[in-house]
Parts: sequence; C-alpha cells; structure tokens
Amino acid sequence: MNDAATLLPVEEARAQILALAPSLPAEWVPLEDALGRTLADDVTAQRTLPPWDNSAMDGYAVRSADLAGALPVRLVVGETVYAGATPKREVMPGTCARIMTGAPLPAGADAVVMRERTRPVPDGGADQVDILEAAGPGNFVRPRGEDAREGQVLLSRGTPLGIPELGLLWAQGQLCAPVPRAPRVAILSTGDELCRADETPQGRIVDTNAPSLALAVRRAGGVPVLLGIARDTRDSVEAALSRVDGFDVVLTSAGVSVGEHDYVKEVLAALGVEQHFWRVAIKPGKPLVVGRRGGTLFFGLPGNPTSSLVTFELFVRPALRRLLGHADVEPGRTSGRLDGSLSKAAGLAHFVRVTAAWREGGLWARPLATQTSGVLRSAAAATHLLHFPLEAKSLAHGDPVDLLPLSWVA
Ligand code: AMP
Ligand code: MG
Repeated sequence: MNDAATLLPVEEARAQILALAPSLPAEWVPLEDALGRTLADDVTAQRTLPPWDNSAMDGYAVRSADLAGALPVRLVVGETVYAGATPKREVMPGTCARIMTGAPLPAGADAVVMRERTRPVPDGGADQVDILEAAGPGNFVRPRGEDAREGQVLLSRGTPLGIPELGLLWAQGQLCAPVPRAPRVAILSTGDELCRADETPQGRIVDTNAPSLALAVRRAGGVPVLLGIARDTRDSVEAALSRVDGFDVVLTSAGVSVGEHDYVKEVLAALGVEQHFWRVAIKPGKPLVVGRRGGTLFFGLPGNPTSSLVTFELFVRPALRRLLGHADVEPGRTSGRLDGSLSKAAGLAHFVRVTAAWREGGLWARPLATQTSGVLRSAAAATHLLHFPLEAKSLAHGDPVDLLPLSWVA
C-alpha cells in the first residue's frame, strides 16, 4: 500500500498498473472476429505471394534493353496475357507481349510499359506496337514474394490486426489467428443511494456507472459482466467481491474515498488483494485503488459518473489493451491547439473535457463549459481529454496541447 498522502503523477500510476497486466493466454478465433486484436504468436508464411512477377499496369511486357536506343521503338506483339492466364511464349529481342494488370510476366520480359505510353501501328493490326517511352528493368513489375515469402515471419507476435493484416492472412489460406483471449471484466456498483435504471427511484439515484462502464469495457475489447449493486455495508461489499473468481479484471465504482461508509479498500484487504491505494495527481478522479490477487486485477474507481469514466480511460482501458497484447495502450493520442484559455494551480494534472474539430490545418480543442465530475452532462459532447500538465498554471489560445481521444464518443 502506498502512502496515501502523497500524490502520484498519472504517468507513474499508469506504469505501475501496466506492470500488473501481462497479456492473456491465446485463443484461436476466425479472422472475421480478430479485427482490432493482436497476434499472440508469430505467423510464418506458407505461400510466396505474389507467386510470380506480374504486371502492375495494362500495357506491354518488354525487354528493357530493346528500349535503350532512339524512340519510338516498334515491337512485334507475340501474345496477350490476361490476369489468371499463363504466358505461352518467351519475349525475344524485338518482341513484346500485351499484358493486363496482375497477369504473370512472360519469360524474357523484365519491364512493363503502360498502354498510354504506346501507339498502335497504322495498318499494323494487333501484331505490332510503337513504344514511345523507355522503361528500366523492373518498371511496373510487381516482384514475386513482395507480399510474403514462404518460411519467413509474415506478421510477428503483438502485431495489431487491422484489415490489411487480415488480408495477408486470408491470402495465405489462414482462416483463424491466435490472439490473447478477451478479458472477462466484473463490474460492481456500491452505494445505498443507488437503484437500477428499471426501478422507480423513490429518492434514490439511478446507477449509471455500471452500464456505462460495461459499454466502455466492450469497446475496449473486454467481456463485461454486471455484479449488481452492493449496499454500503461491509457484508454487502464483501459478499459481492467474494464472487469474482475466474474474472481477469474487477471494476468497482464509489466507496473508495474517505467517507464513513467507504468499505471497498477494507474488503479488498480482507480478501487478500495486494493493494495500492493512490491519490493520483489528477482532476477529475483523485482516489484510485488498484490491486491484484492471483490472475485478477482490481480497480476501485471513483463514484462520480464522469470521474469513473475518465479514470477508466486513463487507467483501465490501457490495462485492458495490455491484457489484449497491445504495445500501444493509448491509441490515437495526438496533439492539437487550444481554442480558448485555461488556468489552474500547479500540483494536479487536469484532464479537461474538450470538443476537438479539424480546421485551418489543425485540430482545435475547445473546453466544454461544465467541467464538474458529478454530472454526466459535463462529459456529453466531449471527444477528447486535454492534458493540462501537473505543473502548468495557464494555457493560452493557440497553445499546443496533448489530446487523448475518448472511447466513449458516438
Ligand atoms: P462516493 O464515491 O461513494 O462518495 O460517490 C461519489 C458520488 O458518485 C456520489 O454523489 C454518488 O451518489 C455518485 N455515484 C456513486 N456510484 C454511482 C453510480 N453507480 N452511478 C451514478 N452515480 C454514482
Ligand atoms: Mg458512496
């Protein structure tokens, strides 16, 4: 347990969290389900692709040496090679082959001249063509093995699987890929004041954190499971947190400050969770409990709706991404310029909810008018969190700023 009085910089808290989150064991999934996940193992090519040199253009396959002298050069057209066909003749000096994009390059040819740089021979029929431009060896030729070479590592472990990566795997005839399995994430709300959205409040407030966090988990690639609402008693919190075997991550919200009914820390300790309690030097979201027991990672998030979402973005999503094998835990972090001005005291980094839009060749970030953490309206319409650094006191209009894209936007 850390000294709760010291404020920990956000980067340090995140580094310690990531150290607690190794990537999960692999499962094989169909490629259609692998988009956005990472490879759990190197993949070796079984096929050399393309299997032969082929043409990158519709045009004429030539011997480049034939075009080294004065232009134009008149060549005899030996055959036409279509995509999917096999060339039948070698291209001899003084000849060429008409060729379509993707068709194999005939033997003897070492370059392609695009059709637009040629001219039909008047009355020459289809048998002759004038080449108007020289072409060096390899011109418009897509070489054999440019995409993959049999026996070589095609994609290495940890590679994020985007659509082109999946295309490379399909081209190998591979239909499934090994990826770290999706983390199972249990979500618990705590608070006597809470009721479910389908209940009549009768003086209570609706638990919005649990369903919101569940969606954020799903967007991050995890599988959320709702554990319901625990009351503000030790027994209720303990009963709920005793049912988390088999989960990779447990998220609780509320009950982690210094309020009299804040039992989360106490119960985690009683259950043998090795804990780090930090006051992280950020606003919103100061108190944060992180712990580990066996293969389960625990996060005690703050209760305020916006604080729980912001701390999810800053700490939980990076951890989920690391469990999913991603080296880049903050995808899309970018820079922009401040549209407006900001000031604060030194000592806390602020994560300011902004709406960022592209204009005048840059991304301009405008802070939302409301920045309180108790109401969700202050997060609605935000697209990014603007990082107003720990020691900085003011930012002026046009200043460069770091922006973290929010996963919760529509
Ligand atoms: P706490 O951390 O228990 O002091 O809660 C801080 C604030 O967040 C209080 O105003 C709570 O009512 C509110 N809150 C706590 N849990 C939730 C929840 N699951 N959904 C919406 N608001 C909550
Ligand atoms: Mg409470």
